[in-house]
Amino acid sequence: MPTAKTGGDYGIKKRAGEQTMDYSRILVFGAHPDDELTMAPTMAMLAERGVEVYICISTNGSEGYPKQEWKDEIVSLRAQEQADADAIIGTRERICIGADDMGLTNDKATFKEFIRVVRQVRPDVVFTHGPHDMHRDHLNTHALSIEAVWQAANPVSMELGEQWRTPYIFYYKGVADRQPDIVLDVRNWAHVRPLTQATQRTQLTLWNTTDEKLQAEANRLRNSEAPYTNTFWFYDRTHLSYLPGLGE
Ligand SMILES: [Zn+2]
Repeated sequence: MPTAKTGGDYGIKKRAGEQTMDYSRILVFGAHPDDELTMAPTMAMLAERGVEVYICISTNGSEGYPKQEWKDEIVSLRAQEQADADAIIGTRERICIGADDMGLTNDKATFKEFIRVVRQVRPDVVFTHGPHDMHRDHLNTHALSIEAVWQAANPVSMELGEQWRTPYIFYYKGVADRQPDIVLDVRNWAHVRPLTQATQRTQLTLWNTTDEKLQAEANRLRNSEAPYTNTFWFYDRTHLSYLPGLGE
């Protein structure tokens, strides 16, 4: 009998005592360049196993300059930083919606771009921001991505591509009212988190860290056998094909 946390209905399988994700194509929505790095170890693990990892970032990160003199070049600097992170993760493709940082709006034109991305990628699963957050871009990315997954499956706006039904939605951050539904042990890829963070050179001031510290942390994690987890939450309206705990 399937259980709520490990049933095949979620694409989660237990193998040799560990939880793995059994997908061929995933789509990770993030509001800003670097939001997605929260789940960088999971993305790297899946990419190494042949899963196609697509990342869609809503904004260009234009407000993320800790020094005024970086203002004019911050967008191009962050574009290079994202490319460097992708080389470590093994990202298949990174898609940029291109909204201005702090300026992502939940309007019709932006919403249609989200639908277009879902229909073009045709993912087995979408990972996105949860509903509990302070940043307007995070909240709008949450709302736009959830609604786009739903609307992409409907016979509307057909110039955006063929209908596509994404079976699963998970949150990888932005859930404050409950414990994670999935705790994934990604210890063999734990070092990917600090390594990809180190590529975000313009953000190290914000994170109060340095390249040296992150490289040291990556080396420590590479040599560690301790569990290291990424956590995920089911989308609030996750559909089940059975009643957990009631029969087969
Ligand atoms: Zn963000």
